[in-house]
Amino acid sequence: MIFLPVFTTRKRPILIAGPCSAETEEQVLATAKALVPQGIDLFRAGIWKPRTRPGTFEGAGIDGLHWLERVKEETGLRVTTEVARSEHVEAALKHNIDVLWIGARTSVNPFSVQEISDALSGLDLPVLVKNPINADLELWIGAIERVYKAGIRRIAAVHRGFSKYGEKNYRNVPLWQIPMELKRLFPTLQIICDHSHICGRRETLAAVAQRALDLNFDGLMTEVHPSPGDAWSDGRQQVTPEQYAEMAARLIMRRPGTDDEQFWRDLDHLRQQIDEIDDEVFELLSSRMHLSKQIGGYKRQSNISIYQPTRWNRILERVLSKGKSLGLHEEFVSAVIDAIHQESIIHQASVMNQTGEKTPKK
Ligand code: PEP
Ligand code: MN
Repeated sequence: MIFLPVFTTRKRPILIAGPCSAETEEQVLATAKALVPQGIDLFRAGIWKPRTRPGTFEGAGIDGLHWLERVKEETGLRVTTEVARSEHVEAALKHNIDVLWIGARTSVNPFSVQEISDALSGLDLPVLVKNPINADLELWIGAIERVYKAGIRRIAAVHRGFSKYGEKNYRNVPLWQIPMELKRLFPTLQIICDHSHICGRRETLAAVAQRALDLNFDGLMTEVHPSPGDAWSDGRQQVTPEQYAEMAARLIMRRPGTDDEQFWRDLDHLRQQIDEIDDEVFELLSSRMHLSKQIGGYKRQSNISIYQPTRWNRILERVLSKGKSLGLHEEFVSAVIDAIHQESIIHQASVMNQTGEKTPKK
C-alpha cells in the first residue's frame, strides 16, 4: 500500500488536539479558540463515544457536529471526529468534517471497519486508523487495508497503546515495536502517537510524547479540555490548553538524518561493534543449544522429562540477579531467558524424539 499524506505540512510534530468528548458548544469553542495559538494541525472531539461501561456520557451526537462546523467557521481549524458506523460517516460528511478517525474499539472489529469502508467508498476523505485495543499488528494492518480498498489514499495510523489486564503504569501499554514495525512495512504511512490514551493520566504525557518523537513518529494526538477535572470523559488524562502549550513548547524534535559525515562515521563505528556483538551473542546461544542437546541425550537415556521446574527456577533466579547487577531491566532479562528456554526445549525435544536410537533405560 502506498499512502498519501493526511497532513501536508512539513512542520514537525504534527499536532492534533482537542477534548476527548464534545460536551457543550461553549466547551468545544473555548477549547478550539485556546488551541489556535498553538498552531495545531487538526482539532479533535468525540461526538459518538464508545464507553467501556453503559450509563456514562455517550456523546453529543448530531448537535456536536454543528459545534464542530462552528469551530471551522470561527477558527479555520480542520476538524476530526470518531466514526464507528456507516450512519456516523454519512452524518459527518453532511456536516463537512475534514478527517474521520476509526477508534480502537472499532478497528478491532472487521465487520465494523468494512461497514465504514463501504460508506467511504468513492470518497476522498482522509481517515485516521487507531490501533485495535489488543496487540495485533495484522488486525491493525487489516483495518487500514479495508479503508485503502475503499479507494481512500490519505490514511494515517494512530498509535494509542494496547490494553493489558492488571497494568498499572499505563492505561494502554505502548509496545513501541508494533507501530515501529508498521512504519517499517509502510514507510509512506504517517504515524501519530495518541499519548493521552497510552498514559491515562496527565503526569506522564510529556515523557511519552517525547519518546514518540525520539522514535520518529510524525505527530501527536492529545486530549485537551478547558477544565479537565470537570470533563465528562477521560478527565484524568486531559490537560488545559495552557498545560498543553507548555508541554508542546518543551518537546524536542529529533531529525531523521543529517549531512554531517563525521556523525555517520562515528555511528558506523559503533554499529560495527554492535554487529560483532550480535554475532557473538548468537554464536554463544548456538553453543548453549549444543549443550542442551547433550542434556536431551542423557534425559532420553534415563527417560527423564525435559522440563524440570526446580532447575528452571534456579536458572531464572540466577540470571535475574546477574541481569540486575549488569544494569539490565528485569522485564528484558526475563523475556530473553524465557525465549532461550523455549528454544532449548525445542532442541532437547528433537533429541528426545529421535527415532532409531537406544531405547530408554527402564
Ligand atoms: C478517543 O480518542 O477519545 C477514544 C475513544 O480513543 P480510543 O479509540 O483510542 O480508545
Ligand atoms: Mn478519550
